[in-house]
Amino acid sequence: MDTTHRYRISPQDPAAHLFEVRLTVASPDPEGQVFVMPAWIPGSYMIRDYARNVVAIRAESDGLDVPLTKLDKSSWRAAPVQKSLTLVAEIYAYDLSVRGAHLDKTHAYFNGPCVFFAVRGQEDLPCEVEIVPPAGEAASEWRVATSMRRKGADPYGFGTFEADDYAELIDHPVEAGHLTIGEFEVNGIPHAIAIRGKTRVDMGRLCNDLQTLCERHMALLGVPAGLDRYLFLVHAPGSGYGGLEHRWSSSLVCARDSLPARGDDSVGDAYRTFLGLASHEYFHSWNVKRMKPAAFTPYELSSESYTGLLWVFEGITSYYDDLALVRSGLITEQSYLELLGRTITRVLRGSGRLRQSVEESSFDAWTKFYKKDANAPNAIVSYYAKGSLIALALDLKLRTETEGRVSLDDVMKACWERWGDSGEGMPEDGFEVITAEVSGLDLDDFFDASVRGTGELPLETLLATHGIAYKLRPASGSTDKGGRKLDNSKQRSVWLGATLTATNGKSTFAAVMNGGPAELAGIAPGDEAVALDGLQLTAANADSRLKAYRDGDELELVVFRGDELLTTRIRLAAAPLDTCYLELIEDVELDVESRRMAWLHA
Ligand SMILES: [Zn+2]
Repeated sequence: MDTTHRYRISPQDPAAHLFEVRLTVASPDPEGQVFVMPAWIPGSYMIRDYARNVVAIRAESDGLDVPLTKLDKSSWRAAPVQKSLTLVAEIYAYDLSVRGAHLDKTHAYFNGPCVFFAVRGQEDLPCEVEIVPPAGEAASEWRVATSMRRKGADPYGFGTFEADDYAELIDHPVEAGHLTIGEFEVNGIPHAIAIRGKTRVDMGRLCNDLQTLCERHMALLGVPAGLDRYLFLVHAPGSGYGGLEHRWSSSLVCARDSLPARGDDSVGDAYRTFLGLASHEYFHSWNVKRMKPAAFTPYELSSESYTGLLWVFEGITSYYDDLALVRSGLITEQSYLELLGRTITRVLRGSGRLRQSVEESSFDAWTKFYKKDANAPNAIVSYYAKGSLIALALDLKLRTETEGRVSLDDVMKACWERWGDSGEGMPEDGFEVITAEVSGLDLDDFFDASVRGTGELPLETLLATHGIAYKLRPASGSTDKGGRKLDNSKQRSVWLGATLTATNGKSTFAAVMNGGPAELAGIAPGDEAVALDGLQLTAANADSRLKAYRDGDELELVVFRGDELLTTRIRLAAAPLDTCYLELIEDVELDVESRRMAWLHA
């Protein structure tokens, strides 16, 4: 008997953003089949309860309606039936993020967890999906981009697709609409990029650059078993940024202007950001999509899955994403150092790094990192940013202390050998144990301080051993991301210890830093800025207004909290040295020079 689960998804009413999803189960549970929608999507560690978008649901068998009982927020049980059972649901899809599903008259995009029910107890059975085009002339030129295996469907056409099991079924996002498509090969493996949105991209250049980048990653860890195709799905609106990794593809959102235009062969800030994003998601093909924490093996998608290792899977990925750009020659050393300086700046600007370890940040991602409030800079640290700096520190430490014999590359290769294709998850102490094994070093103090503790990383010393000078300065203003040297005259001399944002014509205090002038003056997040020293204070003029003052100046500050006017005194303080930039040291010793070369040009 053919036990394949047969799904069919059709854009039932694009104007109302409704998909119809049908699922036929050949031999349902005789006790009554249970169907479940995931509560979260792998790679995005937040409970999203996708079942909340199910607006109608029914079941039928042998031409008759079958009663459905809702068991909890995400699952339903059908009454026992003798023959095959079909579930029919209408699902609302209007979330235009890489974690969602979105349907309108211009395109259809979905992630499996948003639209496909799991058949409880039969999750390991093969699945087929028929993806149906919308009715009407308008969609006649639509193409379908997905990494799901085609069963009869033409390349980029609608039709039937297949997956080995439910976990694979929901690991292939699908985009259908007007697409700009480019193709290239990496080690003989077909790769493609499909872009949605109006674009005049230089596709030839984009494919060349992505090929260079992907080859670099493959050279490090080798071709994962089963990686026989790869797809970058890109949505390029006017502005936006984000990505989500999958085993054979990734979904990226980037600003339209961050893609290279024809006739432009520079790598500006925006294109470098896009390449970094593509690099990040591609590296996840190894690190988190195949090699995973034990807590994700297998994914349990009905509730939170806790691990202290997200810093390994996101932080180390964030380290290799930009490092691969310089190692592959897509950006210069100077450009790479600017990116590192910016990451260091991001971490330095939050005192939360002194309160939360990256292990805690990983564990609590569900309720803290993914649910940031105005107090986040004071309370939490990013396992991405600090995790990538731990990777940097560890890499440089290994290189220095083993005299170039061992680097983080060797540790990652050993991890990949151990947990890459084995299907076993990395235990919570796995990364640390393997790092000690590979290097022969005692790294307990390092991991205690940097991963389990909140110690500052010894980056200044470690970078110096690689011929890089670590410099700190005050920020020039609220848009200064760091990474670059600036004249003293451009740096701010005092600060408020708070950030201001403008929304709907109102300037309000966003983050208020612990111990800073604004907090000491009694300012709270959400207060609306009115006046400083008798003149209007706005998000737009704050940087220039502050130039008139010096450390210790006491001024009147007026704000609205709700509809009540508050007048307070603020004592301005010297702007902190919270902005980092890195410089290549000229004329270094030969051994330092060769260490730097081995690191940046491996
Ligand atoms: Zn990531």
